Amino acid sequence: MAEKIYLSSPHMSDEGFEMEYIKEAFATNWIAPLGPNVNEFEKEFAVKVGAKYAAAVNTGTAAIHLALRAVGVSEGDIVFCPSLTFSATVNPIIYEKAIPVFIDSDEETWNMCPIALEAAFLKYPQVKAVIVVHLYGLSADMDKIMAICNHHGVTVIEDAAESLGTLYKGRQTGTFGEYGVFSFNGNKIITTSGGGMLVSDNQERIEKVRFWSTQSRDSARHYQHSELGFNYRMSNISAGIGRGQLKVLDQRIAKKIYLLNFTSKSWKNYQGLNLLPINHWNEPNYWLSCITLDGSIKPLEIIEALEGENIESRPLWKPMHQQPFFEWCDFIGGIVSEKLFNSGLCLPSDTKMTDSDQKRICQIIKGL
Ligand SMILES: *Cc1c(COP(=O)(O)O)cnc(C)c1O
Repeated sequence: MAEKIYLSSPHMSDEGFEMEYIKEAFATNWIAPLGPNVNEFEKEFAVKVGAKYAAAVNTGTAAIHLALRAVGVSEGDIVFCPSLTFSATVNPIIYEKAIPVFIDSDEETWNMCPIALEAAFLKYPQVKAVIVVHLYGLSADMDKIMAICNHHGVTVIEDAAESLGTLYKGRQTGTFGEYGVFSFNGNKIITTSGGGMLVSDNQERIEKVRFWSTQSRDSARHYQHSELGFNYRMSNISAGIGRGQLKVLDQRIAKKIYLLNFTSKSWKNYQGLNLLPINHWNEPNYWLSCITLDGSIKPLEIIEALEGENIESRPLWKPMHQQPFFEWCDFIGGIVSEKLFNSGLCLPSDTKMTDSDQKRICQIIKGL
């Protein structure tokens, strides 16, 4: 069987940048959830995205969790978030015993619909925080969303786990809200095997997040705690990988653009195949090449045909309001997220793919 083609798999630099940082960590015995790579990764990352401060943690999910705590979300609070997302956006709301309210997508962006968001504010004026997601590297319409949230005086957390490097009107996603969250899980555009970053211009809150992420140890010789702690800090080894990966982020984005353009050219003349929405104000990182189908062929047929050839593809995220675990939660909007789920899929978008891999994929799909 032909070698497996992945949706999006880890891709270390050809130059071996990551290994240099890891070797240094070994040589100096910094094998711990702290160390020089962690500090430097935070600084380099903050510069890259244009945020003032950054706290490195062991997952993107942990970064969302601590962002919610930094906002002061607690039991019974309402938090708005999009329905079309990965469950990691929502789970931390539940960790804090707060209540998610799901917002529908906008067809023009696939992300949080500003009209549905406005309607949600009417129904829940007491809402404590809004989590905006930039799905598949596409930016949400941040001018509209920030205007609504600022008008209501509610804090915005951006889940930019999938959109590192994406620009909205020239500015990095993750830097519009009070907090921005990034993920370095193995499938993301750059990876540390597992890891996350929380960015903010609020120094005091970022320092607090670092404190919480290392078990909330008060400055005393003995172990003294006046707050609940978490073991969420990033390891010095992971941070070394992250520093190396950050150097090739622009290369990875360039390749993702190349992959999508290849798909787009191959299918110029095919009716019923639509690429993800590309708005003039958006410069996506094209993390995954996503399409929707409105002809007779169904996403599952493509997924199964590719699977038969050892090629990985996936449906779009299943909306949270359709998930058994979140059935009890309110949903504001129409059928956009549901329609996207039913008609869309993510094609292989691995940056290690060659032109012949892509031709093979197109041949299989055209065969249908
Ligand atoms: C990957 C992802 C996360 C969580 O990141 P982890 O590092 O895997 O915990 C959160 N939100 C979205 C939208 C994601 O895709």
